[in-house]
Amino acid sequence: QWTGISEELRYEIGESNHKNWIEPLECLGVSDGVVRFRAPSRFVGDWVKRTYHDQIFSRLQTIGTDVTRMEFIVGEPAQRPATATATAASTVNKSGAGDELQGAPLDGKYNFDNFVVGKPNELAHAAARRVAEGGPVTFNPLFLYGGVGLGKTHLMHAIAWELKAKRPDLQVLYLSAEQFMYRFVQALRDREIMDFKNLFRSVDVLMVDDVQFIAGKDSTQEEFFHTFNALVDQNKQIVISADRAPGEIKDLEARISSRMQCGLVVDLHPTNYELRLGILHRKAAQFAQSYGSIKIDDGVFEFLAHRITTNVRVLEGALQRLFAFSSLIGQEVSQDMVQDCLSDMLRSSERRVTVEEIQRKVAEHFNIRLSDMLGPKRTRTIARPRQIAMYLSKEMTSRSLPEIGRRFGGRDHTTILHGVRKVVEMREQDTQLNEDIELLRRLLES
Ligand code: ADP
Ligand code: MG
Repeated sequence: QWTGISEELRYEIGESNHKNWIEPLECLGVSDGVVRFRAPSRFVGDWVKRTYHDQIFSRLQTIGTDVTRMEFIVGEPAQRPATATATAASTVNKSGAGDELQGAPLDGKYNFDNFVVGKPNELAHAAARRVAEGGPVTFNPLFLYGGVGLGKTHLMHAIAWELKAKRPDLQVLYLSAEQFMYRFVQALRDREIMDFKNLFRSVDVLMVDDVQFIAGKDSTQEEFFHTFNALVDQNKQIVISADRAPGEIKDLEARISSRMQCGLVVDLHPTNYELRLGILHRKAAQFAQSYGSIKIDDGVFEFLAHRITTNVRVLEGALQRLFAFSSLIGQEVSQDMVQDCLSDMLRSSERRVTVEEIQRKVAEHFNIRLSDMLGPKRTRTIARPRQIAMYLSKEMTSRSLPEIGRRFGGRDHTTILHGVRKVVEMREQDTQLNEDIELLRRLLES
């Protein structure tokens, strides 16, 4: 049962979090309302309790287990659970004192071959490729940012894999910012701070994922800053990821955020329909290797790409569920199966936004009257926001063009199409517009 829960969590919290926190746990069973786990360290136990408590509990409850508390015992698991994916640890061992600095495990599937490139991520991909060549450092750091599940971690692992193959002489270290902090705190506690510094300063390529995590954690930020500077001074490549641009990370020290901007800052944009479709096809080929090939209607891919728009991880989870279900009952994936099997995911994406909410928010944002948005006026200050609202309606709801047209004061579907295309066109060059749209999208989704 725990294995099932653990697998579901993998999709919810992501491969790398799962590997770091959930996989090391061994479930020892439930008694008297307490579920017991063996964790490799107290830190892992505390972390899981703090971070994943609710997710674990809600799942235990759905399978009818009567638990009220979780407890962790510290110790190495009796038998290590076999992992389904190929992993390799990036190791750095230079101190000679037997100290070993181990990076986070790399996911074998997160390589460049499996990364689907489209307009929204082509710059990030190109920059990652450049770093992965292992040639002379041209920009430092490479700062990748973007929303959850858009492929930051995937790209960083891909860089690491590629460098391992091309430049085995280089010491490549990939880890999350929280692991950086954990190591640092541990080194402080064990009075091994000099070792910590030496180890981190001896790597050739340092990659730190989700750096927003250290914002507000003063001594960790301080140490990170020094590590960062020391490596840059030695002309060692650094790759950083975060969920937003350096200047927008709250409580990140100004001197750090300005150093981050000295290199190349690239943005992973939210996926578009074509990219999602491409990713679905690629993942289907991947899943076919473990589930056997399964017949899926093209309409199913289109439907999913259209409906599950926020997060590639969720999209992937949906497809995985269809594969599992289909192989279980030995039928091909039909539209009906999609409805049955994914009703929960589809409901939550359905409930998201209405055209009316979009119109209201957009009008508010651009400071125009709702009646003008729906009315006939064609001045730029009104027509532009109206087109943006049309675009968002097409992107964020499942309404058809004629349906959207009706909600825009009875406009024709060709007018809506024109508006949508116009915005797509303008987005290619207008960064301010992109920011407006992303902001609105976030407001509408929350
Ligand atoms: P992030 O770190 O930005 O939150 P991840 O790198 O963990 O996102 O990506 C989430 C999931 O989506 C992963 O399984 C990843 O393989 C997949 N993914 C995201 N973008 C792409 C892409 N362009 N091509 C293939 N898979 C992708
Ligand atoms: Mg990530």
